[in-house]
Amino acid sequence: MTRRFLWLLGVTALLPAETFTYWIEPCSAEVSRQTTCAAKDPELAEWAIEAWQKAADLTFATAAENHARIRIYWASDHMRLYGKASPILVDGKRGSAIHVNPDVSQLGEEIYRAAEHDTLLRDAIIYLTCLHESGHALGLSHTGKFEDIMYSFGFGGDIVEYFERYRRRIGTRQDIRTQSAISAYDRQRLLQLLRQHP
Ligand SMILES: [Zn+2]
Repeated sequence: MTRRFLWLLGVTALLPAETFTYWIEPCSAEVSRQTTCAAKDPELAEWAIEAWQKAADLTFATAAENHARIRIYWASDHMRLYGKASPILVDGKRGSAIHVNPDVSQLGEEIYRAAEHDTLLRDAIIYLTCLHESGHALGLSHTGKFEDIMYSFGFGGDIVEYFERYRRRIGTRQDIRTQSAISAYDRQRLLQLLRQHP
């Protein structure tokens, strides 16, 4: 084996398995005319990506919208859902178009009443929605465990408490960046998934 070949092998081993490209829609003047996004909402989406990156040691990189495998959009006024992730094909690879609803008044009376005068709770809801939907984009399905970020409200439970529980862990907006809502089970499932489909 030549030295050159050995060197090449070494380089190959160091290459990351996969880079997930992403793009987050800015809350521009035009977008905020059609949605209720706030100027700093894209930062919440960025922190969600960052949380998955830290939890599973994944590599993410920003890309132009049309080449990004994970695209996060601010949904317009009529969605009446927290968020949704739809499969897309991006340069021959599977990707996901995520829509996050920045308007908590659409999410039922109880959530609206809780978040109406609590901006931090409102931001926590947007952040947790970004985290949940980007979990789907990475291939994760729902769980029935209330402590997981991949928990589905379809299993019932106290939805306001689901968000309030996280809200109690944060004192300022900046705390969202360091307080991960990814449970040990969410992380374990993602690592398992990446081993099966690197
Ligand atoms: Zn879901």
